[in-house]
Amino acid sequence: MNWATRVMRVTPSVTLAIDAKAKAMRAAGEDVCSFSAGEPDFDTPAHIREAAKTALDQGKTRYGPAAGEPALRQAIATKLNNDNHLPYRAENILVTNGGKQALFNLMLALINPGDEVIIPAPYWVSYPEMVHLASGTPVIVTTTAETGYRITPAQLEAAITPKTRLFVLNSPSNPTGMVYTPEEIRDLATVIVRHQLWVVSDEIYEKILYDGAEHLSIGAVSEAAFERTIVCSGFAKAYAMTGWRVGYLAGPADLIKATTKIQGHSTSNVCTFAQYGALAALEGSQACVAEMVAAFRDRRACMYERISEIPRLRCLKPQGAFYLFVDISATGLSSVEFCDRLLEEEKVATIPGKAFGMDDHIRLSYATDLATIEKGLTRLAKFVERL
Ligand code: PLP
Repeated sequence: MNWATRVMRVTPSVTLAIDAKAKAMRAAGEDVCSFSAGEPDFDTPAHIREAAKTALDQGKTRYGPAAGEPALRQAIATKLNNDNHLPYRAENILVTNGGKQALFNLMLALINPGDEVIIPAPYWVSYPEMVHLASGTPVIVTTTAETGYRITPAQLEAAITPKTRLFVLNSPSNPTGMVYTPEEIRDLATVIVRHQLWVVSDEIYEKILYDGAEHLSIGAVSEAAFERTIVCSGFAKAYAMTGWRVGYLAGPADLIKATTKIQGHSTSNVCTFAQYGALAALEGSQACVAEMVAAFRDRRACMYERISEIPRLRCLKPQGAFYLFVDISATGLSSVEFCDRLLEEEKVATIPGKAFGMDDHIRLSYATDLATIEKGLTRLAKFVERL
């Protein structure tokens, strides 16, 4: 069937294929260790759940403003001022169905057919596909382990053409767990400002940091950088709220008006009572975030140590998020072959690096319990030894 050109250009998700296979095996009673999930395994903290229940009982069950509940827009603006030194006001905020819709609305509002969007690889799976859906052209810049999979200012500069409209920056990164240093962020900002590009800074993992790594939002570097920055984030990762579908976009008021127009004709407002849960997440104690990060820290230590002991696998110690990005090139297998066989032979689910634009790597999530990590890594070691 000939569907619209925009959808014909979109690649189906490799991640979903592996995930479906792992789920089918589990349903058939097999003991699968899964490291494929991109979500915390914790329940949403109780005070956030309570706030949403109260909102339901108070009748917050109707349509609201497309851009979001005024109280939540204000609380997000306050958070961005206090935590990130970004002088936003409520009018600069659009509440969206997760960080994903924030990015999608942005692409639709900013990209004209043929506009180029620079995306460093490895990248989060949806970035290039969103650019395709907006009729733009993703320009992929491949990074290496030598720079911690971080794009250098020279690489960014070399990829810029007269058609470049936007640069996508994601720190801490999914899939690598790498975090750009403040100096690196400043250097990238210099290039953005010099070429008058837009940068979208995906900061959804900003709270999940280890070993003293520091998160600097690129918009906080200077007034000139602030004017070219759009921030995208959400509640899913820091507050274990993946299913709530609440995220946000922050940027110049006229851009927010444009994206609100798009949202008004597509999804309207985000689920009203879910927004009150998000409000409680911002206004309540942040101790729950620290507790979850402490658990991730122990799991990261365990998984990193076990991977480092396996000959032929290499990986950098992540400084943020909850993923390990493992170089499997010494095994001679492609990432899809590796993940397929690992799942079939040892019942361990991982994500092929191909999904992130790097076919000689795989991604493991450590958002799961320590016992599963121990068991799964023993199986992974056995698998690699056999190859
Ligand atoms: N950005 C990155 C880098 C992600 O990893 C994800 C989720 O996996 C998102 C954005 C979107 O998150 P959500 O739409 O659940 O808020």
